[in-house]
Amino acid sequence: MAAAPKVGFISLGCPKALVDSEGILTRLRAEGYAISPSYDGADLVVVNTCGFIESAVQESLGAIGEALAENGRVIVTGCLGAKGEVVRETHPKVLAVTGPHALEEVMTAVHEHLPKPHDPFTDLVPPQGIKLTPRHYAYLKISEGCNHRCTFCIIPSLRGDLVSRPIGEVMREAENLVKAGAKELLVISQDTSAYGVDLKYRTDFWGGRPLKARVGDLAAALGELGVWVRLHYVYPYPHVDEVIPLMAEGKVLPYIDVPFQHASRRILKLMKRPASGEDNLGRIRAWRGICPDITIRSTFIAGFPGETEDEFRELLDFLEQAELDRVGCFAYSPVQGAKANELPGALSNELREERRERLMHLQEKISARRLKRKLGKTIKVLVDEAKAGRAVGRSAADAPEIDGVVHIEDCPRLKPGDWTQVKVLRSDAHDLWGELGIRQTRLRASAASERQP
Ligand code: SF4
Repeated sequence: MAAAPKVGFISLGCPKALVDSEGILTRLRAEGYAISPSYDGADLVVVNTCGFIESAVQESLGAIGEALAENGRVIVTGCLGAKGEVVRETHPKVLAVTGPHALEEVMTAVHEHLPKPHDPFTDLVPPQGIKLTPRHYAYLKISEGCNHRCTFCIIPSLRGDLVSRPIGEVMREAENLVKAGAKELLVISQDTSAYGVDLKYRTDFWGGRPLKARVGDLAAALGELGVWVRLHYVYPYPHVDEVIPLMAEGKVLPYIDVPFQHASRRILKLMKRPASGEDNLGRIRAWRGICPDITIRSTFIAGFPGETEDEFRELLDFLEQAELDRVGCFAYSPVQGAKANELPGALSNELREERRERLMHLQEKISARRLKRKLGKTIKVLVDEAKAGRAVGRSAADAPEIDGVVHIEDCPRLKPGDWTQVKVLRSDAHDLWGELGIRQTRLRASAASERQP
């Protein structure tokens, strides 16, 4: 049998892009292509790009340039691919350019430049598809696109309006992932709270049981799979409050990733975002009232056009009062095509960056305070890496890649994907350090038995 044609793959960008990459890799393997880990072993290279902010555009253009220099035959897809002219102007030699979430177009380009092998046996791929994440956690994409029009964002023009997947299909994929070893499912989309709006919350079936395409119903059904379920990109709609009781009942992780973006009512209005800092403080208090252990992660933009020093301070005050656990902050980046670029009062790069740094400096102190409260507690941890008697894992409060981790000392038997209990001994603004809680218990038990007459 002839050797399978080989495709190299570079995946850049956010978890949504990662899921697109997994879809393309799954199709490539299903059709009998081999995946090459190196440029020189590949017959062509697919680069899945990110175009969210200027630095991501530059990184993507750099990756395409590297693939062209090392291999010479390159197909570009992803968010930057939606701006085909930028890619083609910089790299006229690319074979093809497609936008994001464009599986069929990418496959058509691959077929054109590297014909599909004819071997029916290579069509066999595992039911969960090809995953780029470790076996013990997986991203579960529930929808594509977004119906909002936040003025700083061009995602709707790149990825289109919201298209939700039927709930039965999402649940079957989730089940397959769990059967294949996933112990944590990370629910992603552009706007998780809007799930099902476009389907008018249509009923679908899972295991013969009717389920409505609504975020609360989906979260409850996922909670039955017996794994960690983590909700990301939860737009702050009022009905999000419905999922908090599920967290209090232990059905989904007490963790919410909710981008507030700002606290000033005027700036939020200019951003075309809902609510105000005051409204959000009220909701955070209510969430903590229902689920005291909830970890709240959010993102903000500092230096939005026209943001005054007072408005920025309002944001800092909000952070002081909200005491969020995890915070990310971007200095406003004028992405080409974003409506906010037309607003008056653009701030200088230096001022935007200075405000971002001030915000992160304050938040570091808040995060450190929040983490300190865990000292002495024993927490459940999912191990991500283990080497030389040490391990790194994550607790319910830590999403992979974006949050902190739990460092575990002296644990030679642990391996990636294990659950363990860790007694927390030390903390900083991001991470925790601890030792095996179970060993502590054993030590105490044996010390007690030595004292027995
Ligand atoms: S909700 Fe998110 S994806 Fe949608 S427009 Fe706003 S920032 Fe962009």
